[in-house]
Amino acid sequence: MIPTEHLGKAIDELAPRNRPIMLHASLRSFGAPIEGGVDALLDAFLAGNRTVLVPTFTEPQFGVAPPAGLRPVRNGIDYSELPAVPTIPEGAPYTTDCGLINPGLGVLPAAVISRTGAVRGTHPLNSFAALGPLAGELISAQSPSDVYGPLRELAAHEGVIILAGVGINRMTAIHLAEHQAGRRLFLRWARNLHHQVSMVEVGSCSEGFPRLGPILRPHVRTAVVGGSRWQAFPARQTIAAAAAAIRADQSITRCAEGDCLLCRDSIAGGPMTT
Ligand SMILES: [Zn+2]
Repeated sequence: MIPTEHLGKAIDELAPRNRPIMLHASLRSFGAPIEGGVDALLDAFLAGNRTVLVPTFTEPQFGVAPPAGLRPVRNGIDYSELPAVPTIPEGAPYTTDCGLINPGLGVLPAAVISRTGAVRGTHPLNSFAALGPLAGELISAQSPSDVYGPLRELAAHEGVIILAGVGINRMTAIHLAEHQAGRRLFLRWARNLHHQVSMVEVGSCSEGFPRLGPILRPHVRTAVVGGSRWQAFPARQTIAAAAAAIRADQSITRCAEGDCLLCRDSIAGGPMTT
Protein backbone atom coordinates (compact mmCIF):
# COMPACT_ATOMS: atom_id res chain seq x y z
CA MET A 1 0.00 0.00 0.00
CA ILE A 2 1.37 3.44 -0.98
CA PRO A 3 0.72 5.91 1.88
CA THR A 4 -0.70 9.30 0.85
CA GLU A 5 2.18 11.10 2.64
CA HIS A 6 4.54 9.68 0.02
CA LEU A 7 2.46 11.24 -2.74
CA GLY A 8 2.40 14.65 -1.04
CA LYS A 9 6.15 14.60 -0.47
CA ALA A 10 6.93 13.85 -4.13
CA ILE A 11 4.44 16.45 -5.39
CA ASP A 12 5.93 19.13 -3.11
CA GLU A 13 9.37 18.31 -4.54
CA LEU A 14 8.26 18.56 -8.16
CA ALA A 15 5.44 21.09 -8.40
CA PRO A 16 5.32 24.53 -6.81
CA ARG A 17 2.17 25.47 -4.93
CA ASN A 18 -0.48 27.61 -6.67
CA ARG A 19 0.63 26.38 -10.10
CA PRO A 20 -1.23 24.31 -12.70
CA ILE A 21 -0.04 20.76 -13.45
CA MET A 22 -0.62 18.81 -16.64
CA LEU A 23 -0.79 15.28 -15.29
CA HIS A 24 -0.29 12.00 -17.15
CA ALA A 25 -0.35 9.11 -14.68
CA SER A 26 -0.39 5.32 -14.73
CA LEU A 27 -1.78 3.89 -11.50
CA ARG A 28 -0.40 0.49 -12.46
CA SER A 29 3.11 1.95 -12.42
CA PHE A 30 3.02 2.26 -8.61
CA GLY A 31 3.23 -1.52 -8.31
CA ALA A 32 0.94 -1.46 -5.26
CA PRO A 33 -2.45 0.06 -4.43
CA ILE A 34 -2.51 3.72 -3.36
CA GLU A 35 -4.09 4.32 0.05
CA GLY A 36 -7.42 5.95 -0.89
CA GLY A 37 -7.10 5.03 -4.58
CA VAL A 38 -7.26 7.41 -7.53
CA ASP A 39 -9.19 10.02 -5.54
CA ALA A 40 -6.39 10.25 -2.98
CA LEU A 41 -3.89 10.70 -5.81
CA LEU A 42 -5.97 13.49 -7.32
CA ASP A 43 -6.44 15.17 -3.93
CA ALA A 44 -2.69 15.04 -3.33
CA PHE A 45 -2.07 16.97 -6.56
CA LEU A 46 -4.84 19.48 -5.83
CA ALA A 47 -3.38 20.28 -2.40
CA GLY A 48 -1.44 23.52 -2.16
CA ASN A 49 -3.94 25.39 -4.32
CA ARG A 50 -2.73 23.57 -7.45
CA THR A 51 -4.82 23.06 -10.58
CA VAL A 52 -4.82 19.66 -12.32
CA LEU A 53 -5.19 19.49 -16.11
CA VAL A 54 -5.77 16.15 -17.90
CA PRO A 55 -6.61 14.93 -21.42
CA THR A 56 -10.21 13.67 -21.65
CA PHE A 57 -10.25 12.62 -25.29
CA THR A 58 -13.33 11.08 -26.92
CA GLU A 59 -12.20 10.10 -30.41
CA PRO A 60 -13.74 6.63 -30.47
CA GLN A 61 -17.05 7.92 -29.16
CA PHE A 62 -17.54 11.03 -31.32
CA GLY A 63 -15.29 10.68 -34.38
CA VAL A 64 -17.07 10.21 -37.73
CA ALA A 65 -15.88 9.30 -41.24
CA PRO A 66 -14.80 12.15 -43.53
CA PRO A 67 -17.45 13.41 -45.97
CA ALA A 68 -16.31 13.61 -49.59
CA GLY A 69 -15.91 17.40 -49.60
CA LEU A 70 -13.88 17.54 -46.38
CA ARG A 71 -10.74 15.53 -47.15
CA PRO A 72 -7.59 17.65 -46.99
CA VAL A 73 -4.46 16.09 -48.47
CA ARG A 74 -1.35 15.20 -46.38
CA ASN A 75 -3.64 14.57 -43.42
CA GLY A 76 -2.27 11.26 -42.13
CA ILE A 77 -5.04 9.23 -43.75
CA ASP A 78 -5.24 7.05 -46.84
CA TYR A 79 -8.67 8.10 -48.08
CA SER A 80 -8.58 5.41 -50.79
CA GLU A 81 -9.20 2.86 -48.06
CA LEU A 82 -12.44 4.61 -47.15
CA PRO A 83 -15.74 4.53 -49.03
CA ALA A 84 -16.03 7.54 -51.36
CA VAL A 85 -19.33 8.46 -49.77
CA PRO A 86 -19.26 7.21 -46.19
CA THR A 87 -22.39 6.46 -44.27
CA ILE A 88 -22.31 8.56 -41.15
CA PRO A 89 -24.44 6.97 -38.46
CA GLU A 90 -26.74 9.20 -36.51
CA GLY A 91 -25.62 9.99 -33.02
CA ALA A 92 -25.61 12.74 -30.45
CA PRO A 93 -22.80 15.31 -30.74
CA TYR A 94 -20.21 15.70 -27.98
CA THR A 95 -21.20 17.91 -25.08
CA THR A 96 -19.03 18.90 -22.13
CA ASP A 97 -21.36 17.03 -19.77
CA CYS A 98 -21.47 13.78 -21.81
CA GLY A 99 -19.50 11.96 -19.11
CA LEU A 100 -17.73 9.83 -21.73
CA ILE A 101 -13.98 9.43 -22.09
CA ASN A 102 -11.55 7.28 -24.08
CA PRO A 103 -11.02 4.30 -21.74
CA GLY A 104 -7.38 4.08 -22.88
CA LEU A 105 -6.58 7.27 -20.96
CA GLY A 106 -6.79 5.49 -17.62
CA VAL A 107 -8.74 6.15 -14.45
CA LEU A 108 -7.36 9.57 -13.47
CA PRO A 109 -9.09 11.66 -16.21
CA ALA A 110 -12.36 9.86 -15.40
CA ALA A 111 -11.89 10.80 -11.74
CA VAL A 112 -11.35 14.46 -12.71
CA ILE A 113 -14.53 14.79 -14.80
CA SER A 114 -16.60 13.08 -12.11
CA ARG A 115 -15.73 15.82 -9.57
CA THR A 116 -17.94 18.79 -8.81
CA GLY A 117 -16.20 21.89 -10.11
CA ALA A 118 -14.42 20.16 -13.00
CA VAL A 119 -14.33 22.21 -16.20
CA ARG A 120 -14.20 20.44 -19.56
CA GLY A 121 -13.31 21.85 -22.97
CA THR A 122 -15.62 22.06 -25.98
CA HIS A 123 -13.39 20.10 -28.39
CA PRO A 124 -15.50 17.10 -29.53
CA LEU A 125 -12.54 14.70 -29.94
CA ASN A 126 -9.60 16.00 -27.87
CA SER A 127 -11.06 17.86 -24.91
CA PHE A 128 -9.05 18.65 -21.80
CA ALA A 129 -10.53 18.92 -18.32
CA ALA A 130 -9.25 20.71 -15.25
CA LEU A 131 -9.97 21.00 -11.57
CA GLY A 132 -8.73 23.70 -9.23
CA PRO A 133 -8.52 27.51 -9.08
CA LEU A 134 -7.23 28.00 -12.66
CA ALA A 135 -9.51 25.39 -14.25
CA GLY A 136 -11.79 27.88 -15.99
CA GLU A 137 -8.91 29.97 -17.28
CA LEU A 138 -7.04 26.99 -18.75
CA ILE A 139 -10.03 25.30 -20.31
CA SER A 140 -11.70 28.38 -21.79
CA ALA A 141 -8.65 28.66 -24.08
CA GLN A 142 -9.74 25.51 -25.93
CA SER A 143 -12.02 25.41 -28.97
CA PRO A 144 -12.49 22.88 -31.80
CA SER A 145 -10.08 24.98 -33.91
CA ASP A 146 -7.60 25.58 -31.06
CA VAL A 147 -7.11 22.19 -29.46
CA TYR A 148 -3.99 23.05 -27.41
CA GLY A 149 -5.09 26.40 -25.95
CA PRO A 150 -5.07 24.92 -22.40
CA LEU A 151 -1.41 23.92 -22.81
CA ARG A 152 -0.49 27.44 -23.93
CA GLU A 153 -2.19 28.69 -20.76
CA LEU A 154 -0.35 26.06 -18.70
CA ALA A 155 2.94 27.44 -20.02
CA ALA A 156 1.85 31.06 -19.52
CA HIS A 157 1.12 30.28 -15.85
CA GLU A 158 4.54 28.64 -15.40
CA GLY A 159 2.87 25.27 -14.96
CA VAL A 160 4.50 21.86 -14.75
CA ILE A 161 4.01 18.70 -16.84
CA ILE A 162 4.23 15.55 -14.71
CA LEU A 163 4.67 12.10 -16.20
CA ALA A 164 3.88 9.72 -13.33
CA GLY A 165 4.99 6.28 -14.47
CA VAL A 166 4.47 6.97 -18.18
CA GLY A 167 6.90 7.87 -20.96
CA ILE A 168 7.53 10.97 -23.05
CA ASN A 169 5.34 9.42 -25.76
CA ARG A 170 2.42 10.41 -23.54
CA MET A 171 3.39 14.09 -23.27
CA THR A 172 0.54 15.83 -25.10
CA ALA A 173 2.29 19.21 -24.78
CA ILE A 174 4.79 18.15 -27.46
CA HIS A 175 1.93 18.36 -29.96
CA LEU A 176 1.77 22.07 -29.18
CA ALA A 177 5.53 22.22 -29.79
CA GLU A 178 4.98 20.55 -33.18
CA HIS A 179 2.47 23.25 -34.04
CA GLN A 180 4.85 26.00 -32.88
CA ALA A 181 7.58 24.42 -35.02
CA GLY A 182 5.50 25.13 -38.12
CA ARG A 183 3.44 21.98 -38.60
CA ARG A 184 -0.26 22.20 -39.19
CA LEU A 185 -2.28 19.92 -36.96
CA PHE A 186 -4.18 17.02 -38.44
CA LEU A 187 -7.89 17.44 -39.07
CA ARG A 188 -10.51 14.90 -38.07
CA TRP A 189 -14.29 14.91 -38.20
CA ALA A 190 -17.02 15.20 -35.62
CA ARG A 191 -20.51 16.59 -35.35
CA ASN A 192 -20.83 20.09 -34.02
CA LEU A 193 -23.67 21.12 -31.74
CA HIS A 194 -25.83 21.75 -34.83
CA HIS A 195 -25.28 18.07 -35.81
CA GLN A 196 -23.25 19.07 -38.89
CA VAL A 197 -19.96 17.27 -39.55
CA SER A 198 -17.02 19.67 -39.27
CA MET A 199 -13.23 19.38 -39.11
CA VAL A 200 -11.38 19.82 -35.81
CA GLU A 201 -7.67 19.88 -34.92
CA VAL A 202 -6.07 16.80 -33.36
CA GLY A 203 -2.54 15.59 -32.56
CA SER A 204 -0.29 13.38 -34.66
CA CYS A 205 1.74 10.25 -33.85
CA SER A 206 3.53 10.59 -30.50
CA GLU A 207 5.50 7.33 -30.48
CA GLY A 208 8.68 9.11 -31.61
CA PHE A 209 8.55 11.78 -28.88
CA PRO A 210 10.97 9.87 -26.59
CA ARG A 211 13.68 10.81 -29.13
CA LEU A 212 13.39 14.35 -27.70
CA GLY A 213 14.43 12.96 -24.31
CA PRO A 214 18.07 14.11 -24.47
CA ILE A 215 16.94 17.65 -25.40
CA LEU A 216 14.46 17.81 -22.52
CA ARG A 217 16.77 16.17 -19.96
CA PRO A 218 18.31 19.44 -18.67
CA HIS A 219 14.82 20.56 -17.61
CA VAL A 220 13.60 17.38 -15.90
CA ARG A 221 13.27 16.75 -12.17
CA THR A 222 12.47 13.29 -10.88
CA ALA A 223 10.95 11.50 -7.91
CA VAL A 224 10.08 7.90 -7.14
CA VAL A 225 6.85 6.86 -5.42
CA GLY A 226 6.53 3.13 -4.74
CA GLY A 227 7.41 1.56 -8.08
CA SER A 228 6.43 4.67 -10.05
CA ARG A 229 9.11 6.89 -11.55
CA TRP A 230 7.93 10.48 -11.93
CA GLN A 231 9.36 13.11 -14.25
CA ALA A 232 8.44 16.79 -13.96
CA PHE A 233 9.06 19.28 -16.76
CA PRO A 234 8.48 23.05 -16.63
CA ALA A 235 5.87 23.54 -19.37
CA ARG A 236 7.12 26.79 -20.91
CA GLN A 237 10.77 25.80 -21.22
CA THR A 238 9.93 22.26 -22.29
CA ILE A 239 7.55 23.27 -25.08
CA ALA A 240 10.06 25.90 -26.27
CA ALA A 241 12.97 23.41 -26.26
CA ALA A 242 10.91 20.77 -28.09
CA ALA A 243 9.69 23.31 -30.67
CA ALA A 244 13.25 24.51 -31.32
CA ALA A 245 14.48 20.93 -31.75
CA ILE A 246 11.66 20.06 -34.17
CA ARG A 247 12.20 23.26 -36.14
CA ALA A 248 15.89 22.36 -36.48
CA ASP A 249 15.18 18.76 -37.51
CA GLN A 250 11.58 17.95 -38.41
CA SER A 251 12.36 14.23 -38.62
CA ILE A 252 13.36 14.08 -34.93
CA THR A 253 9.82 13.00 -33.96
CA ARG A 254 9.61 10.14 -36.47
CA CYS A 255 8.49 6.90 -34.82
CA ALA A 256 10.02 3.46 -35.39
CA GLU A 257 7.26 2.34 -37.77
CA GLY A 258 8.87 3.01 -41.14
CA ASP A 259 5.57 3.35 -42.97
CA CYS A 260 3.75 5.49 -40.37
CA LEU A 261 1.44 7.73 -42.40
CA LEU A 262 0.91 10.10 -39.47
CA CYS A 263 4.65 10.72 -39.05
CA ARG A 264 5.20 11.04 -42.79
CA ASP A 265 2.52 13.70 -43.22
CA SER A 266 3.15 15.70 -40.05
CA ILE A 267 6.91 15.84 -40.72
CA ALA A 268 6.08 17.12 -44.21
CA GLY A 269 4.12 19.97 -42.59
CA GLY A 270 0.66 18.55 -42.00
CA PRO A 271 -2.59 18.92 -43.92
CA MET A 272 -3.08 21.33 -46.76
CA THR A 273 -6.46 23.02 -46.99
CA THR A 274 -7.23 25.40 -49.79
ZN1 LIG B 1 4.48 7.50 -36.24
